[in-house]
Amino acid sequence: MLIDSHCHLDSDQFDADREAVIQRAFDAGVSHLVAIGTGNGPPDLEAGIRLADRHEAFYATVGVHPHDASKADPEVFRNLSELAKHTKVVAIGEIGLDYHYDFSPREVQRAVFIEQMRIAADANKPIVIHTREAWDDTIAVIREHWDATRGGIMHCFSGGPVQAQQALELGFHLSFGGIVTFPKALEIQEAARMAPLDRILVETDAPYLAPVPKRGRRNEPAFMIETVRKLAQLRGVTEAAIADATAENFKRLCSL
Ligand SMILES: [Zn+2]
Ligand SMILES: [Zn+2]
Repeated sequence: MLIDSHCHLDSDQFDADREAVIQRAFDAGVSHLVAIGTGNGPPDLEAGIRLADRHEAFYATVGVHPHDASKADPEVFRNLSELAKHTKVVAIGEIGLDYHYDFSPREVQRAVFIEQMRIAADANKPIVIHTREAWDDTIAVIREHWDATRGGIMHCFSGGPVQAQQALELGFHLSFGGIVTFPKALEIQEAARMAPLDRILVETDAPYLAPVPKRGRRNEPAFMIETVRKLAQLRGVTEAAIADATAENFKRLCSL
């Protein structure tokens, strides 16, 4: 088993060859994929569910990305609460804070983040966190509003050992994507080396952030094997051991 815990195959970058991309993922050994449901933002909340309804191998998330926080309103939250009950929805996400782009005002991002944590707690599902240039605020909000026993995923983890420790203490799993393969990503690599084996996941975030040696190209789930290889090298274990552990971790976290 090998699970891509975070991809955006609903993206229009896959409109021309989506089914071929999915087949290549299977051929490369990816057995399951998590279709992140944030899409182009509200009012559409079903980008992930549509893929999961069509393909056995897909799970889905629902959520409002921090970029789209200003498009959220009470009706969006009501719909999210309903969709969170869908049998293939495994988590609420990606939610969090993005101070790099600031597409939505920061106080709106924080309020929408907190509201979605409430929805996740009600649905008894973990959360998938997107955080960019907002680490300290993200940790502070989680610490105040999220029960560590519920857990969650730091998607595309891009911190070092200090940030890893903070996330681990809050019950989170660290999901490593293509950037862990970048030669200059020494801090991330150190975090990938020290994190407990039962708290790591792998993802592509396709179509973004392709791993070396595909860097710069459109990313796709089949390329995740490069990230698995890098994690295996860093930790001195086999690729199969990384695949098995990350799949088990994902299943345990999402009660599958
Ligand atoms: Zn993200
Ligand atoms: Zn994403």
